[in-house]
Amino acid sequence: MVDDAGSWDWARLSQWLPHATLEKIAAVKPPQIGAGTDVPGWRWEKNRNFSVKSAYKLLDIAAPLNVHTSWAKIWKLPVPPRIRVFLWIAFHQRLLTNIERVRRHISSTEMCSTCQDTPESIDHVLRLCPKARHIWEAIVDQRNIHEFLSIPFSRWISQCVQDSARFGQGDAIWNTRFVVFCWLIWKRRCNEIFDNNPLHESALIRYGIQLAKDFDSVHIGVKNLRISQPAAWCPPPHGWMKANCDGAVNTKDGRAAIGGMIRDEYGSWKLGFTRNIGSLEATKIINRSSLSLVNTLLVEDILKLIARPWIVHIRHINRSKNKVADTLAALSRDKAIDEEIFEKPPNEVMIELNRDMIG
Ligand SMILES: [Zn+2]
Repeated sequence: MVDDAGSWDWARLSQWLPHATLEKIAAVKPPQIGAGTDVPGWRWEKNRNFSVKSAYKLLDIAAPLNVHTSWAKIWKLPVPPRIRVFLWIAFHQRLLTNIERVRRHISSTEMCSTCQDTPESIDHVLRLCPKARHIWEAIVDQRNIHEFLSIPFSRWISQCVQDSARFGQGDAIWNTRFVVFCWLIWKRRCNEIFDNNPLHESALIRYGIQLAKDFDSVHIGVKNLRISQPAAWCPPPHGWMKANCDGAVNTKDGRAAIGGMIRDEYGSWKLGFTRNIGSLEATKIINRSSLSLVNTLLVEDILKLIARPWIVHIRHINRSKNKVADTLAALSRDKAIDEEIFEKPPNEVMIELNRDMIG
């Protein structure tokens, strides 16, 4: 399989193997004479020798989780969809840790970039790496911290999601806090590797605790609002800002515009905008063959905005709750293609704005 120069014998290999397999082989260094003979090794130990401990660990990771109960519980947690999706990926062992990267041939080392000598598994990165452990030590009930750090990975997750009293410190809804911190720990790990601009540990703990609280309180707030105010615009919870936006299209000539505004918990106007996006531009995008590419770039921009250091909830609301944005968008539809910023509400939206305030 190897030629005289020590490279893979592609002429020979390509006779028998499909291209996809050849590409995988190309990623592996060919065996060398000086490197000794090939011997089987146990990949889950550093020294490649089999151990019962590592086999047990492997079985535990591979064991099916109590998916139904855990998942039903996660689904009900008041966290944004992106955190639920993250958990789903983590629970199904699909998180792109260094072990997974090596498995997919996109990295050459499976070691944790912090610990250097420990493979970066999902359990390691989310729980056992000192970086994660310091955070858990600060927010888990001290009486149960040992159990928290030592139970098998699959039980760790299902227990933390299902048992709300055992590990929490009693001052918050533990399950929400647990999933928020799993997500933040992973986010920080990626920021450190890719952005080099991580949040400091104590700041991260404060941020996570507040974030979990906000998710819980918004959830409770939304539940109550649904009962009392079904059709009108409603202000955001205390300390939050609400941005409403909408688009308007003239069905005759296809000219389109967008508009929106930001208001605080008292309904006070912070800023408004309109923009005529033209009919040509919109049609071009729709007709372009690379529609999916345009969408991807647009979605990427949106995701970048969401990823800034703030908390964002996005919701679809029906038109009756969105009259001001609707009116704003229609305003610029027939104007020149440009953006208009309103420090104060324009006269055209005053009626709708007052209606919002009355509820
Ligand atoms: Zn580590």
